[in-house]
Amino acid sequence: MVKQIEQAPKIGMVSLGCPKALVDSERILTKLRSDGYSLSADYAGADVVLVNTCGFLDSAKEESLDAIGDAMAENGRVIVTGCMGNEADLIRSKYPDILAITGAAQYEDVVNAVHDAAPPARGAFIDLVPEGGLKLTPRHYSYLKISEGCNHRCAFCIIPSLRGDLVSRRIDAVLREGEKLLAAGTKELLVISQDTSAYGVDVRHESRQWKGQDVRTHMTDLAAQLGQLRTIDGQQPWVRLHYVYPYPHVDHVIPLMADGLLTPYLDIPFQHAAPSVLKLMKRPANEAKVLQRIHNWRDICPDITIRSTFVVGFPGETEEDFQYLLDWLDEAQLDRVGAFRFEPVEGAAANALPNPVPEEVKEERYARIMEKTAAISAAKLQAKIGRTLQVIIDDIGDADEDGMRGATARSQADAPEIDGNVLLRDVPDHVKIGDFAMVEIEDADEHDLYGVIEG
Ligand code: SF4
Repeated sequence: MVKQIEQAPKIGMVSLGCPKALVDSERILTKLRSDGYSLSADYAGADVVLVNTCGFLDSAKEESLDAIGDAMAENGRVIVTGCMGNEADLIRSKYPDILAITGAAQYEDVVNAVHDAAPPARGAFIDLVPEGGLKLTPRHYSYLKISEGCNHRCAFCIIPSLRGDLVSRRIDAVLREGEKLLAAGTKELLVISQDTSAYGVDVRHESRQWKGQDVRTHMTDLAAQLGQLRTIDGQQPWVRLHYVYPYPHVDHVIPLMADGLLTPYLDIPFQHAAPSVLKLMKRPANEAKVLQRIHNWRDICPDITIRSTFVVGFPGETEEDFQYLLDWLDEAQLDRVGAFRFEPVEGAAANALPNPVPEEVKEERYARIMEKTAAISAAKLQAKIGRTLQVIIDDIGDADEDGMRGATARSQADAPEIDGNVLLRDVPDHVKIGDFAMVEIEDADEHDLYGVIEG
């Protein structure tokens, strides 16, 4: 929850680089928020701008220097941190008026520099510890963040006011980061942003050179190029697209999935199906033909897994609207669904909407949607019994008294943390965490599969 405090100094933040750098940024911001700072959505409104840089490769350095240049031009009160902080001389030679430069993971130094530049508000109180705390992903899967911010203004969401409008990263820098992560042992790349389908809209899909060819800053080009990368053992990595909105060009990535270049998985947060509720929610890509397109996607790539999230009890949602959603789910047969009861978030436009749905009605609708989607998921998983699926091993248990080990794995249909698992019995000794394996599926329940590695 965000609590507004009056006259708290405002921090602007630009975060570049790998998921680790993102974690660093979150850690710094968490500390600053607990010190009484608030976030600014734009450079102009910030008392000081922090640029968390990446300096691993030349393109990343160039991107970092560009970002510092933008922050200097727009605001002028800039603190640089992150990997490129180790090259303070280079940065100062270009931008002598930088307030402070600190290196990667020097949290205390960067926080002190912010305190010096914009002293915290006295007596400020803010409860902004992020839900779930901080977590580093294991080496065999990595998040690849392609942009910051969002151009939409969904009525229930405050992300645009916190993070500002869409700012896409350079596609060559994103691809290099993907390549670097794979070289370091990653087997699965999870492409994340606020709106993956909008990637590059802010830079008019400008082209950059990548391995001797022009690639556009566009989701389709990005997906095609990520599909050409290989893991450290020369295998096809899994590349998973999250937060995709069903713009027409999404149709172009489905053949890449059918060809095995992209993991046949789309995470599309539909949030609702009834046109009147979608309109109230101000959702992007809210068009009537989505069901037909889902059918077409399945014709092209029968193994595609579609995951989504839905909000029930949004202000103005009638019983008729909710029933429309349930009927739509019957048609769409989505593989994985998360549902949420609408809750007002401080600062969201939806809070001012009329006709709030009473709590007991929300609860009842939540129970109905969960029942419906669990039944669809169970039937879909049952249909996988007897098939052989590729999995990635996430965890291996200790040997039991017979010397047998079990393991927790995921199929291509399962994103880490949010979907189900494939639970394995009798795992051979040579199998390690992060390995791909072919598994015969022996059983299923509502959310998980059970199987054994093929001989
Ligand atoms: S919910 Fe809407 S406004 Fe919020 S980040 Fe997603 S697309 Fe943007």
